[in-house]
Amino acid sequence: MQNEKKCNFCGKEAEYDGKTKFGPWAYMCKICFMKNGIGLGLGRGQKLKKEGKEND
Ligand SMILES: [Zn+2]
Repeated sequence: MQNEKKCNFCGKEAEYDGKTKFGPWAYMCKICFMKNGIGLGLGRGQKLKKEGKEND
């Protein structure tokens, strides 16, 4: 099993782990990250690794 993360807001597959505009960090899917995240970068958020294409 992968350790699949779920979006803390809507329960879908999370794509980001980041700080929300509310303060605490959360796992977020893309949509919730756009709505609730404060961006990517050090101290803000990161994209979760997904198996497959995206290697970085
Ligand atoms: Zn979501």
